Amino acid sequence: MPTNCACCGIAKRENGRLRCVKYHYLMTPQTPETERECSYFTPFMEEDGELLSPEEHLMLKEMEMQARGFKGPI
Ligand code: SF4
Repeated sequence: MPTNCACCGIAKRENGRLRCVKYHYLMTPQTPETERECSYFTPFMEEDGELLSPEEHLMLKEMEMQARGFKGPI
């Protein structure tokens, strides 16, 4: 299922663009390339009412994938 990077907690907002903290590329939220297959897609998460940072989203996702034994591309 295609995922939308604009809805992913791992995408960092920079000057109106999105940067994927996992794969290190820049996107604009309007371009079709924001829709892709991505096993790292992570819905926004909060702690104590504050949105976690993209780096924290990525860390939690990597821990979750390790726990599930995911052996994806590095
Ligand atoms: S982790 Fe995947 S879904 Fe999230 S911003 Fe990066 S490419 Fe997009």
